[in-house]
Amino acid sequence: MEKILTKKSFPNWIAKLATVQIYAPVVKDDLWSYEVVDAAGITTEYTNAIQSPKKIIFPQRELFLEFSHNDNGSPEIRELLPEDKESIIFGIRPCDAKGVSHMDKVFGGDFEDSYYWKRRNQVTLVGVGCNTPPSPNCFCTSVDGSPFSHEGLDVLLTDMGDNYYVQTFTKKGDKLVNMSKGLFAAPKPKEKADLESLHKDAETKLPRHLKDTKKIPPKLKGLFDSEIWDDESMSCIRCGICTYLCPTCHCFDISDEITSHSPLEGKRVRTWDNCQFPDFTMHSSGHNPRPDKASRLRQRIMHKFQYFVEIYNNYQCVGCGRCISKCPVGIDIIQVLEKVRDHV
Ligand code: SF4
Ligand code: SF4
Repeated sequence: MEKILTKKSFPNWIAKLATVQIYAPVVKDDLWSYEVVDAAGITTEYTNAIQSPKKIIFPQRELFLEFSHNDNGSPEIRELLPEDKESIIFGIRPCDAKGVSHMDKVFGGDFEDSYYWKRRNQVTLVGVGCNTPPSPNCFCTSVDGSPFSHEGLDVLLTDMGDNYYVQTFTKKGDKLVNMSKGLFAAPKPKEKADLESLHKDAETKLPRHLKDTKKIPPKLKGLFDSEIWDDESMSCIRCGICTYLCPTCHCFDISDEITSHSPLEGKRVRTWDNCQFPDFTMHSSGHNPRPDKASRLRQRIMHKFQYFVEIYNNYQCVGCGRCISKCPVGIDIIQVLEKVRDHV
């Protein structure tokens, strides 16, 4: 459905939505971050958050189960699925929502991850499109995205000056509009035309571009042993920021934490893992198939632009630019990909 909401009515709509838990971008420690907010804390004027809201659906650390031995010495296991709680992520950027739709493919593949889906099914994604790019390193249009893409979104808001143009794409999205029906009006033909030109105009404002992205996946097939990986990874300090901040990176580790040896008690925990860390692929034998920075950068690039494309027909990069903006040594994924594309 397509509707117009005046900015004057916006707080009334938000007040209605606030009957469930809302996450939205707020300034925390001088950085934009997705946090639980009350209705008064919601804004549509914000730059890119330091982390995408992936952490809400796929937390950096989560408990799977608790285990113990009971008095008879028999093992007891208590599964700790996420709680029943509806929530809204308000103000997710279109690139980050696309990142969620990529994670849906991974966690909903041959094996459905019940922990992920319990949260995912209870969350509604309300996007705010990007009239101007929220980061100097945005390049969504180079990886099949756009500042107003609705992939993964339930609702998309476009700032039209005095009004928001509100589009819904799912039943969850319709529900959010229908709960405040009286606040919304049908768009006029001029507003529809303005929306189209605003969306087109936003695409021309992207600060970064990667040309001929389609040439990259086939090119990567012949570059496993290329010198590119040594050259480009030389300055990497293995901090893992590029992958921790990425809205599409989803690797994790599962470990058992023993909290008591007698009686035996503990927890099984899932934590984000990171392919840029040396011990990510370390075998218990001591052998490491990715022993150096070059092989780890190669894995990051090949996973995103070859393997994921072969499996899901999507780049595993949505062009948010975080890995470029935050890499402490200035490794720039666009420049690496340009070297791959142009390699002779
Ligand atoms: S953010 Fe930069 S320095 Fe840190 S692991 Fe990634 S590429 Fe290496
Ligand atoms: S690879 Fe970099 S630019 Fe692409 S989605 Fe991940 S953090 Fe964003």
